[in-house]
Amino acid sequence: MKVRLLHTGDVPPGHVRSAFSGLAPPLVPGEAMPFRASLSATYDRTRAQYDAFSVLEAVPSPEAGWLNLLLVGVDLFVPALTYVFGLSHVGGRRGVLSLSRLKPPEESAVSEELLLRRLAIEVAHELGHAAGLVHCAVGECAMHRSLWPESIDLKNPAYCLSCRALIASE
Ligand SMILES: [Zn+2]
Ligand SMILES: [Zn+2]
Repeated sequence: MKVRLLHTGDVPPGHVRSAFSGLAPPLVPGEAMPFRASLSATYDRTRAQYDAFSVLEAVPSPEAGWLNLLLVGVDLFVPALTYVFGLSHVGGRRGVLSLSRLKPPEESAVSEELLLRRLAIEVAHELGHAAGLVHCAVGECAMHRSLWPESIDLKNPAYCLSCRALIASE
């Protein structure tokens, strides 16, 4: 399955390159391209955050054999949660991922290396959902659920064997 990484202007080019080159097998880098549509209509003034469901709707549906993931710098929410790292419909073949919570302000000691590792893991996570995977019980699998940035660090930027086999069979 090929991956198209769309990115808004507030995502550093180095992050896009890193996410692209670090894609978890069996995902294959396809292309990276700027996302030019405005997300201003998805902004919620009351929460001062962007509505993840509305942002996800703005991501174009890919052609057969592809997954589209939009990387954004802005903070995302869903109504029941304070924030989300990202959002995808399971099997919907498109997703959105925010950089904003991967390095919380209070974690000033987080290195660039650790941040890029978290990015690779959560890119794999959202693309896994987009490809049809649900959360995985294996603690190190990229598809294990993470609610806090530090819990992302317990995972690998890769799928466990069964998740990998499920994606490959799509
Ligand atoms: Zn998830
Ligand atoms: Zn797994």
